[in-house]
Order: sequence, then structure tokens, then C-alpha cells
Amino acid sequence: MTGELLIKIKEREKQYPVFIGQNLREQLVDRVKDIYKGDKILLVTDDNVRSLYAERIWGELNDAGYQVFVYSIKPGEESKSYRSLIEGHRQMTGNNFSRDSLVIALGGGVVGDLAGFIAATYMRGVPFIQVPTTLLAQVDSSIGGKTAINHQAGKNLIGAFYQPQLVLIDTIFLKTLPRRELKTGLAEIIKHGLIADRELTDFMMENREAIFQIEPAALGYIIEKSCRLKANIVSEDEKERGRRAVLNFGHTIGHALEAVTSYRCYRHGEAVAVGMIGAARLSKRLAYLNGEELELIEKIIRIYELPGSCQYGEKREDVFERLFYDKKARGKRLRWVLLGGIGRAFIESKVEHDL
Ligand code: ADP
Ligand code: ZN
Repeated sequence: MTGELLIKIKEREKQYPVFIGQNLREQLVDRVKDIYKGDKILLVTDDNVRSLYAERIWGELNDAGYQVFVYSIKPGEESKSYRSLIEGHRQMTGNNFSRDSLVIALGGGVVGDLAGFIAATYMRGVPFIQVPTTLLAQVDSSIGGKTAINHQAGKNLIGAFYQPQLVLIDTIFLKTLPRRELKTGLAEIIKHGLIADRELTDFMMENREAIFQIEPAALGYIIEKSCRLKANIVSEDEKERGRRAVLNFGHTIGHALEAVTSYRCYRHGEAVAVGMIGAARLSKRLAYLNGEELELIEKIIRIYELPGSCQYGEKREDVFERLFYDKKARGKRLRWVLLGGIGRAFIESKVEHDL
């Protein structure tokens, strides 16, 4: 089972493939050969993924004749820093990387965001390959070309839109992923179903066991559906001026919860799960959703063991106030992503604050 997806970003007329399947990492060397004629590679990873996968991949690329430098960061959000960016650049300048040297990101969203930004900024941009190893990165951050590091004034504040040459998604990586990390990715897949794909939602409702068992066919299916959906939305709207905003379903409240708890309590998908319940209830109150639909949404969050309400004693006023910090809030008006049914999201900026 191998899915191949071509993402075409309209604004730039640039197109790149996304390969999805079981054991695809074994094809990485061939894929690199297809698109890369140089000899130097910076392989960016983190200390967990390094021992699990990076060393072997390093060996394979090395055997194929590439000169591979491994840059392994400490796992975790703190590594999306200026310091890591500088260190990445230092390794490249120090090893005489040229304008067409290659950067490969092998890891979760943290590695992908950092490596992408290193690639985007070194000599105004060098070729870049994404090999996401968390479910969240596979269905979300590796698609769409957002790269960034954090700044003390905000998360992902310093970054660029920069598209990779290709994305290689191997479901085998998920076998070693801690369950909590798996679930944070599942939250984004649930989101994709709820905003735009009833079939995906139904599949998630019916195949919980297979998904938790990481059965390749089930995982391949939901990952491919998610990537297709995200790709379609992103290719229409790379810079998030319009339609792309529906991908923020659950994120208005979700981001506020993460921020109020200083990014220390929730995994991203958990905060988004709470946010999806919030946005769904709001949709119900405004009569866009009926009771049965709301129940289904609450059920899907529950069966995937995601939270449906605040977990860490956050104060209602703090969360509310934080909603307006969100960089996506234009002025004081929040742009809510609401549902007009399962699989039908829309933007609403006229929601009363009291609601
Ligand atoms: P995300 O993709 O959710 O943004 P991170 O990049 O922070 O997350 O990765 C989450 C955690 O999972 C990190 O500790 C990382 O080292 C670890 N990790 C990434 N991929 C794998 C994998 N395939 N198996 C086990 N652990 C992994
Ligand atoms: Zn998200």
C-alpha cells in the first residue's frame, strides 16, 4: 500500500510529492537520488529519533556515497530556538554546504519546523525533504510549508513559508510512538474529518481498534485522507488569507489553553480536542449543529481518549482573555471556525462575546 499525492501550490506553481505507506523509509535513498545531485546532506533529528531511526538512515545514505552530517537536537519545544537555528547554520557553513546542499528533517513537528527554517534561511533557501516520524507531523505540520522557531514573545513567531521537495510518510515509525503522542495526532485527524470529510469521521468512529493497533491499512487510509484534505485547502491558500483558516477549528480555544498553561500541560492535540468540543457547543448554541451531531463529536473525542474539558484547573477568565492574544484574531473580533454539520466548517466572526 503506497499512496502518492501531488501537492500543487498555486501561488508559486511549485509541486511536490507526498509518499505515504508502510516501510517507505527503505526507499529514502532512492528518492533522494531522484531529486538530489549533490553530495552533502544535513540530517536533522532529535535524540530519541536518532537512536531509533536516524543512525540506520545515516548509514544507508552514507553507503550510497553521500556525506551526511547529523544534527541532533534535544527533544522538545525548547529546541525550536535561535540557538538551534544558529547551530544548524554553523554546521552547514563549517562543512562547506553550498546553495544546493540538502537538508533532511527526520523527526516530529519540532524537528520539521526547525529543519525547514534552517533550510529556508541558509543561502536564501536550500532543498529540503521532510520525513515526519510522529502522527501529528505526518498529518499536519509536514504538509503546508510552515516552518518556524519560537521567540520569547510567542510561539512560531519567527519563520517562513517554505515548501519541501518531497515528504515521505512511513507508518512504521508510529509503532514506537508513545500512545499520548499518537493521540495528539489523532486529534488533528478527527479535526480534518469534522471540518471537511464525513467519510473520514465515520471511518474513525468504526475503526478505533485498528487505529490504536497501528494497522498499516487503517493508518495509511486516515493519513492519506488527512493529507489530501490539508493539501487541497493549502494549495488554494498557501498564506492563510481565506479558506485555510478552517484548519484552525478547535484552535481558538486550544491555543488559549496551551498558552494559559505555559505550553507545559497539554499536548497540542489534547488542547485542540477541548477546543473542538468548545467550538462544537458554540455551533450547537447558534443552531448550526443539532444535538445528535454534537453527541457524535463528543463521542469521537471520548473514544480516542482525548479530553473534552479543561484538565488543569485553568480559570475561565484567563482562557477567555487569552483568546484575544491569538495572532489570528483580527482586531478584537474572533474568527471562530464553526460547524454547520459533520464535515462542513465555516468561519464566523460575529459571535457575541457572552456566548
Ligand atoms: P510533534 O510532532 O507532536 O510536534 P515532537 O517533535 O515534539 O512533536 O515529538 C514528540 C516526541 O516524540 C519527542 O519526544 C520525540 O523525540 C518523540 N518521537 C518522535 N518520533 C518518534 C517515533 N517515531 N517513535 C518514538 N518517539 C518519537
Ligand atoms: Zn493544530
